[in-house]
Amino acid sequence: MLARCRSAALQGLEARPVIVEVDLAPGLPGIQLVGLPDKAIQESRERVRSALRNSGFRGPLVRVVVNLAPADLRKEGPAFDLPIALALLVASGQLDRPRLNGIWCAGELGLDGSLRTCRGVLAMAEQAFRHGAEALVVPPDNADEAALIDGLTVRTAPNLKQLFEQLNGTRPCLRICRSRPSSVPLPTEPIDASGQAGRALALAAAGGHHLLLVGPPGCGKSRLAHQLPQLLPPLGPEEALTIARIRSVAGEQQDPLEPLRKRPFRAPHHSCSAAALLGGGHNPRPGELSLAHGGVLFLDELAEFQRAVLDQLRQPLEEGVYRLSRARLKTSFPAEITLVAATNPCPCGWHGDRAHGCRCSRSQRQRYWQKLSGPLLDRLDLQLRLERRSATAIRGCLNRKATATQDAWLEPRNITAARQRMTERNPEGVCNRDLTANGLGNHGRFEASALQLWERLVARRRLSTRSGIRLLRVARTVADLNDTDHVSVDAVAEASGFRCADLLQLESTT
Ligand SMILES: [Zn+2]
Repeated sequence: MLARCRSAALQGLEARPVIVEVDLAPGLPGIQLVGLPDKAIQESRERVRSALRNSGFRGPLVRVVVNLAPADLRKEGPAFDLPIALALLVASGQLDRPRLNGIWCAGELGLDGSLRTCRGVLAMAEQAFRHGAEALVVPPDNADEAALIDGLTVRTAPNLKQLFEQLNGTRPCLRICRSRPSSVPLPTEPIDASGQAGRALALAAAGGHHLLLVGPPGCGKSRLAHQLPQLLPPLGPEEALTIARIRSVAGEQQDPLEPLRKRPFRAPHHSCSAAALLGGGHNPRPGELSLAHGGVLFLDELAEFQRAVLDQLRQPLEEGVYRLSRARLKTSFPAEITLVAATNPCPCGWHGDRAHGCRCSRSQRQRYWQKLSGPLLDRLDLQLRLERRSATAIRGCLNRKATATQDAWLEPRNITAARQRMTERNPEGVCNRDLTANGLGNHGRFEASALQLWERLVARRRLSTRSGIRLLRVARTVADLNDTDHVSVDAVAEASGFRCADLLQLESTT
């Protein structure tokens, strides 16, 4: 007896249709799996056998061949337990064949027959919907996630026994209706940043600029970085779905509706490997970089990260996508992020602090900045110098919180308006971070006096061409945030205040 059940296999962020075929043939009892299964699927023989027996079904007393087609597609993970078990029930005559018509399913089975969560269900749901599935059957913990796909019928059951009864019609179907996800952003705390720090956050959010925070320990670098996601323009539905899919494939989906309401913030530790940061593995999974897609990737203590790991960030930062190629598979993970990096001004951390003296020699500082500088530092448009906050400043902040007023430029709608202005001005529709030198020349609208100041700054501070262009981009964002059409001298002057790393580099070499 031959039976089939439809499912899907993950490849990167995509799910590919898979047909699970089960054939019962005379011979010694046993289950044989063919069609490029990995180890976890090989183990599914034991899980399926126990789950069937403990749910009150007859286990197979003949030879069983399970084929996962197409055979050239690598399959991974325990999500094929459920389709194998259902196809076995049909093949052994315990479930009527038509009951599985149009049904797609995925899920791991516990030995007691319970249905356990698996990763990548959202991608599978998209694929099932595209192929006109009548219903997708998933474990209860994955049901909300699958229901994010409009128009797909999602069914679930806590265990194999109850699912069998639902399919057989002896128990009412447990359908999951999509609860209208609210796109209202989660309530946020007022932004705790004032002066230049607040400006830097607003500029980073409006222009999409990557941000470098330089300051002594305890000056609030991490506190600032944490506040950036809530300032970014609101998420669109497509973007939110992509974020949800990345989390699901990474196996990190806790609340499937969260990505619709909140941009991600990821802060990997500096000891993390290239695979953990960028994504990788035999059947590649997204890393911290892609988990931050649409939001903020925060690299605290930048100098402690391995240089080789940081160098690999260059390509995805440039292209907004991380490309991976393995022997059998080429895949890519979205990586549109705002990068926030933080570092001490020198190895001891206290260079430039009035109360603490810096203990580093000039050559130590020079080596420190040499190690940091290079392609990654080059991409950080905004460089903000932070001082330790004095008691008076902290008291000031507490007072401001109490009265709940804050600088107008930190209002999300002003930031969104600035973003809109800049994307409408240039024909490519890019934000200021992605403007090329040509783009700046053609659509930047710089006043002559502003360019004169810029030339003087470049000469005096010995800025590289790249740094000089970065300064112009930030000046353009300053003008957008101030709602002015042309870039004035003041905008260039303000932008030049966000190049502290250039100054520290210059200082350590002269
Ligand atoms: Zn020092």
